[in-house]
Amino acid sequence: MISFDDAQQRLADAGVPIGTTEHVPLTQAAGRILAEVVVATLDLPPADNSAMDGYAIRATDFQPGVVLPIQERSFAGDKPQPLTPGHATRLFTGSIIPIGADTVIMQEDTEEADGEVKLLVAPRPGQHVRKRGEDTTTGRELIAAGTLLTAAHLTLLASQGVATVTVFTRLRMGILTTGDELVAPGEPRGEAQIYNSNGVMLATLATGLGAEVVHVLHAIDTKEDLQRALRTLVDDCDLVVSVGGVSVGERDLVKPAIEDLGGTLDLWKVKMKPGKPVALAHIDDTPIVCLPGNPVSAFAVFTLLVSPLIRRRQGRADIFPAVYAQTLRTEQPHQDDREEFLRVRASTATGGNVELTAFGQQGSGIISSLPWASGLARIPAGTAVYDGEKVAYYDFSRWLA
Ligand code: AMP
Ligand code: MG
Repeated sequence: MISFDDAQQRLADAGVPIGTTEHVPLTQAAGRILAEVVVATLDLPPADNSAMDGYAIRATDFQPGVVLPIQERSFAGDKPQPLTPGHATRLFTGSIIPIGADTVIMQEDTEEADGEVKLLVAPRPGQHVRKRGEDTTTGRELIAAGTLLTAAHLTLLASQGVATVTVFTRLRMGILTTGDELVAPGEPRGEAQIYNSNGVMLATLATGLGAEVVHVLHAIDTKEDLQRALRTLVDDCDLVVSVGGVSVGERDLVKPAIEDLGGTLDLWKVKMKPGKPVALAHIDDTPIVCLPGNPVSAFAVFTLLVSPLIRRRQGRADIFPAVYAQTLRTEQPHQDDREEFLRVRASTATGGNVELTAFGQQGSGIISSLPWASGLARIPAGTAVYDGEKVAYYDFSRWLA
């Protein structure tokens, strides 16, 4: 038996970043992993400009009720003339501040007539001026390598005039489901058969993490069929996830299949529930993670143990998402000799605190708990946790991104 934390760290260390890169236009860069540090090549804003519709003046020209001649009207995108002392330049939000001006009076504090403006309110010198470089200065590091690019990063990159970025190539992943009892959804089902739910689940989870799913294969419980599928997956993929067939049953043939292909396999009994049998193998340097067959176990183990390895292989800087302490609401106390991960749903209670409600049925066969849950709550091994206590919360929206 190995502990959950140990298994998580060992799996995260089981692969290295793929390291291959490509250039993509900004419009296709969302969800990709930045492969280079991006440094500002522009001061932003590039020139002092107005934060208001109003008038640019020299603060020292202000007197209560003073009337200044309007030198010109300068719109956003215009280049204004230097300000003659004792004058005002009419400008608008985003207009460049003329040389010689230092302050903007907003139009609500003025009266304009006959080419002159009367200033009604005393300004604070320098007010309503957005200074050159107040956002970003040339040479500053803007985004670190290994960052997952979101709309926020793309906004910043676009503001610098960046049109293409260097990102890591998408991680090529392969999924292998196993079992004589499984049929694909849409196919006729024999009486003793069940539908294959892990195939679409793992493919969708991998895609959600930004990987490219190259194959979703199914093998029946023979060594030959498993080996044929594994060979294809290892040849075409950077990371393989198999599910089922890795316990100690007579038809659990994934281990011998991998070993006969020249691979090495460590089978771990991880002290976690749902979960337990998890294996890590390598064939020709390609990592293969073997998950337990129950869909709920596979979902939890993928979320908690496989996603950090995927992020590492993708080249991301942050591979362990945040975990939050939240209040558990449960009808009965929870305690197990293994680390237990409850399917829970987060909601906002009166007073604004987040509370986690545990799904009523926590068996590893209860697939209907998955769409209901927003994440997993961790019950430490050997510790009883009661209603109202704080637990570690693994939010799916973070752990599966
Ligand atoms: P195994 O680890 O192969 O013994 O599988 C454990 C349990 O998970 C068995 O009840 C299997 O029928 C079930 N199972 C395995 N793979 C899948 C799958 N792809 N979809 C649905 N159930 C599965
Ligand atoms: Mg099986």
